Amino acid sequence: MTADQTPAAPLPVESTRVLIIGAGPAGAVAAALLNQRGHQVLVLERQQFPRFSIGESLLPQSMAFLEQAGMVEAVAAAGFQYKDGAAFRRNGQYTDFDFTDKFSAGPGTTYQVQRARFDQVLADEAARQGVEIRYQHSIIAADMARPRPLLTVAADDGRCYQVEAEFVLDASGFGRVLPRLLDLETPSGFPTRQSIFTHIEDGISDPAYDRNKILISVHPERPDVWYWLIPFPNGICSLGVVAEASFFAALDGDNEAKLRALIGAEPDLARLLANARLPNPVNTIHGYAANVKTLCGDNFALLGNAGEFLDPVFSSGVTIALKSATLAAAALDRQLRGEVVDWQADYARPLKRGVDTFRVYVEAWYDGRFQQVIFHPEQQPAIKRMVCSILAGYAWDESNPYAADAPRRFAVLAELCAQP
Ligand SMILES: Cc1cc2nc3c(=O)[nH]c(=O)nc-3n(C[C@H](O)[C@H](O)[C@H](O)COP(=O)(O)OP(=O)(O)OC[C@H]3O[C@@H](n4cnc5c(N)ncnc54)[C@H](O)[C@@H]3O)c2cc1C
Repeated sequence: MTADQTPAAPLPVESTRVLIIGAGPAGAVAAALLNQRGHQVLVLERQQFPRFSIGESLLPQSMAFLEQAGMVEAVAAAGFQYKDGAAFRRNGQYTDFDFTDKFSAGPGTTYQVQRARFDQVLADEAARQGVEIRYQHSIIAADMARPRPLLTVAADDGRCYQVEAEFVLDASGFGRVLPRLLDLETPSGFPTRQSIFTHIEDGISDPAYDRNKILISVHPERPDVWYWLIPFPNGICSLGVVAEASFFAALDGDNEAKLRALIGAEPDLARLLANARLPNPVNTIHGYAANVKTLCGDNFALLGNAGEFLDPVFSSGVTIALKSATLAAAALDRQLRGEVVDWQADYARPLKRGVDTFRVYVEAWYDGRFQQVIFHPEQQPAIKRMVCSILAGYAWDESNPYAADAPRRFAVLAELCAQP
């Protein structure tokens, strides 16, 4: 706690077994799982829900985690856009992956979601199951050196208090509360990328356009610059462009002018969106790739984006967040029952195995090798199914050679696809 945050008078102190920072997907699912196992959980969320969040295209693997948390029915009832795959377009070429035709067992379909609504559905479901969530309560300081961590909370109504817990799960997303307070942040290995994005009235009339898939388009001259088009119901799409920050800086005009110019630069996208309207502000986010020195300590673990965030290209963020929540909840359940838990072995390393698999494919996307593989004219169905599993989020499936041994397997595949 810094001097200017130290309150003058002693603050009221509450107590809970598990304190979760943030009610996004990672926090809500971890809370529900621990509550189901009979543990007292308190979730403190800085904002009032519903609130905007970026990250709207889910992967089918995430449905298995929502099932464990007892949330699938609530999500299915919310009327989100059905999703069964991913399509890619580059210089007139088109290829797609049908997630139901994949190597790994498990769900093959999912949803594209307006996150304000989706995150509220998950948080409401956790609350319905019995979790206490307090909105507009921000964690502003943390003393983790004590046997029972003590966190300081500022509520939007002006109240300040402290909460003592046996264990803290930091699910604060880009807020990255404990990494900042405990000086755990390290730079990501990726360059500083930026995204500009908005929700459009898409006006798409092309009957060949597949609304059940996310469409990733590659800039004709810059293979490291890409667009997402994520359909929602009622003719609305999320549209965004990702590039290095210096690329956007070199474009003229405000974010809307830049987005319009970039749509115009990709002829297939320009044709598809010829009748689109941009009624909403074009927003931007940059420098989101992040890493940490450690994902856990004696009395805390970092979930989802509060730990590492790689890159949005394969829509893996929510899936990783939910995987981290299920792994952490299982380890913490055992610890709260008196077992000895090795958090590195039981949480950090298993989580990182899948994240590192995604990393292989993300790096290969930006250096062009993954694009060479997916646009290759001769696709081997068995291999495509294994790669499809990764794209569907099954990066932890060790029975898939392209997950278990991703660097070597992918390098061989890329080598083959590079040959004329
Ligand atoms: C450009 C871009 C596009 C993306 N596209 C996708 C995609 O298509 N699909 C996908 O799966 N992922 C995508 N992602 C990633 C996705 O946004 C995140 O991975 C996901 O939201 C992480 O969930 P989370 O639960 O860890 O954190 P969040 O959803 O960010 O939730 C964290 C919560 O913590 C709260 N909080 C923060 N600080 C405090 C505090 N001090 N006290 C209390 N509460 C606090 C916040 O208010 C927030 O509600 C994208 C990311 C970017 C940058």
